[in-house]
Formats: sequence, structure tokens, C-alpha cells
Amino acid sequence: MTELAGTIKNMKKKYREIFLKSVDVIRSRVEEIKPSDAEGDIFDTFDKNSAGESWQAAVLDMFENDISHEIYRKWREILAYRNNFHCKGCATCCNLACSEFSPDELKLKAENGDKFASQFTSIFIPYKSDKEAEKVYPEYLKLLSDTIDEKVYFYHCPKLNECKRCSDYESRPQICRDFPDNPLSILPESCGFYEWRQEVEPVALMLHSMMEIIDYYRQKIPYKKELS
Ligand code: SF4
Ligand code: SF4
Repeated sequence: MTELAGTIKNMKKKYREIFLKSVDVIRSRVEEIKPSDAEGDIFDTFDKNSAGESWQAAVLDMFENDISHEIYRKWREILAYRNNFHCKGCATCCNLACSEFSPDELKLKAENGDKFASQFTSIFIPYKSDKEAEKVYPEYLKLLSDTIDEKVYFYHCPKLNECKRCSDYESRPQICRDFPDNPLSILPESCGFYEWRQEVEPVALMLHSMMEIIDYYRQKIPYKKELS
């Protein structure tokens, strides 16, 4: 098992544990606001204007105006904390950028106004083949092929010089300055944000799990707010 594969395996295990804790937290908050005269489960179908239906409405309201705001605030704090760390210019992320989208798909998205796709395609060019990308970071490609069924496309930046350093580092685009903007990205140990990611990972996983659970509740609760 490679070190990188170990990191992901460990994260999946951690995520499962955190997810189960978050299920309990959300469930108890849902139960806390259950009206005393409501009977049944939050996912039941209740009569119109019944106590059960008001409970479902209150739960959806709590998700929208309370828990979602808490998640958003904590996520902003994680991103603000990132400012204490700095890029070391190792160029790993310039050598091997991954996307679930093919070059043609990214081009189309950019033409349709997707800002990220537009910036991405203005910087990165695709590797001619997976074999070529594999030479750059063999461990990562092996891990992806072992763990992900979906196709992943690999890109690199032509601004890298012969020493594999950015030839225009001081004027690098915003998308390069912002990377990594997700604390759950898999980063090499050489990355200046590696420690940031390690420190905030438990909270980021908890927030991610809460978002997944809330989405599940939203889909499964039969009551739907009437649009005014
Ligand atoms: S512009 Fe520079 S920092 Fe940005 S991806 Fe290219 S080489 Fe890396
Ligand atoms: S963001 Fe991280 S991986 Fe990318 S060049 Fe900077 S230190 Fe290296």
C-alpha cells in the first residue's frame, strides 16, 4: 500500500466514523423540535396542517436558516485559516491537474460561461495520453485507477520551465493562487498547504457529512414548502 493510498483509505475510514456521528447529531436536532402532539417519523406522510406536517416544515426551516448557515460560517473559517499557509512553488499541481471533464467538455463549459472551466482551459493543456501523465506522478495515477471507476483526464501547464518551475510565478493567474481551495483535496506532502489540510480535515469532513445528510433529509421529507 503506497503512502498516498494509505491517506485516502484512512480518510474514507475517518469519513465513515464522522458521518455516523453527524447522523446522530442531525437526528437529535430533528427530534428536539418535534411537537409533543406529533406522532411518527420525520419521513412519514402527515395530514395537511397536522402537527407532523408543522414539524417537517420546522425541520426544513432549521436546515435552511440555521444548520446551513453554521456550515457555511465554519467553511469560511477553514478557508480564512488557509491564509496562514503559503505555496512553496513545488509545482506538483502545475504538473498534474485532474478533471472529470475531457478537454472538449471543458471547452464547451467555458463557452457556456463556466468561469472555472474558462480559467482552467486558459492555463492547462491535456496530456497526450495517460501514460505520459503517469510518468509524472505514477503513484497517484495507480491510486486513481484502483479506486475510481469514472474516467479522469490529466492536464499540465505549459508555463513550467525545464526545471519544472513556473516561469511566470509572480504573475500567475488567480486560479493558481487559490489552489487548493478545497480542504479535502489530496495534496502531496511537498505542498505548503499540506499541514493546513491535515489540521482542518476533521472539521471539513464533518461539514461535508452534514451537507450530505441534510440533502438526504430534504429529499426524503414528503412535506414541500409552497412557493409564494
Ligand atoms: S501558471 Fe504557473 S503556477 Fe499556474 S499552473 Fe502554470 S506553472 Fe503552475
Ligand atoms: S499549491 Fe502546493 S502543490 Fe501547488 S505548487 Fe504550491 S506548494 Fe506545490
